[in-house]
Amino acid sequence: MSILKIKNLHVEIEGKEIIKGLNLELELGKINVLMGPNGSGKSTLANVIAGNPKYKITSGEIFFNEIKINDLAPNEKAKLGLFLSFQYPQEIEGVTISTFLRSALNSVKGKKITIMDFRKLLEEKTKLLKLDIAFTERYLNQGFSGGEKKKSEMLQLVVLDPKMAILDETDSGLDIDALRAVSEGVNKFMNKDKCLLIITH
Ligand code: ADP
Ligand code: MG
Repeated sequence: MSILKIKNLHVEIEGKEIIKGLNLELELGKINVLMGPNGSGKSTLANVIAGNPKYKITSGEIFFNEIKINDLAPNEKAKLGLFLSFQYPQEIEGVTISTFLRSALNSVKGKKITIMDFRKLLEEKTKLLKLDIAFTERYLNQGFSGGEKKKSEMLQLVVLDPKMAILDETDSGLDIDALRAVSEGVNKFMNKDKCLLIITH
């Protein structure tokens, strides 16, 4: 079954057309890889699917689960089950991974998870990725190594458990430890009801 359908998509940023008539259809149960040279518009595609307002769709349509998502806000897309991991994640001082994940989960699910249930979930998911739970008490991405940022993203992925995830250059410049975290995250996330788009170069 197709989960993401893109029809004749044109996208521009600051008046410059970057994507010129893209058609794409992705199915559940598949891991898809998008490869291309630097500057070819891969991150633009990821951003526009996720709803970054800087990127303007001039024509064409994007459907997620049969719903047209062209004009939906990023949080509405997240609620539908779409997840994007960023090539350059933001550092947020004063907000722990744990706090961040709990509010993200509450927002995506549209209801509040109890502290106890969240703690249980976090223990289960950190174990799944072989992470120390103490890691979740660090401030989000603050002073993280490239590898730690990826681990934090993989934890987001398995905690939020979206229908579809887009990983933008998750593999760039990673050490062995971090690559292992990413592949473990991907393997734990993926099943026949999920779809993954991996962007790389
Ligand atoms: P890729 O991810 O394939 O390396 P990008 O999607 O990041 O490519 O970039 C595609 C093109 O869009 C490049 O020419 C880049 O300079 C331009 N571009 C991307 N983001 C911006 C931006 N915020 N402002 C201006 N130009 C941008
Ligand atoms: Mg890119």
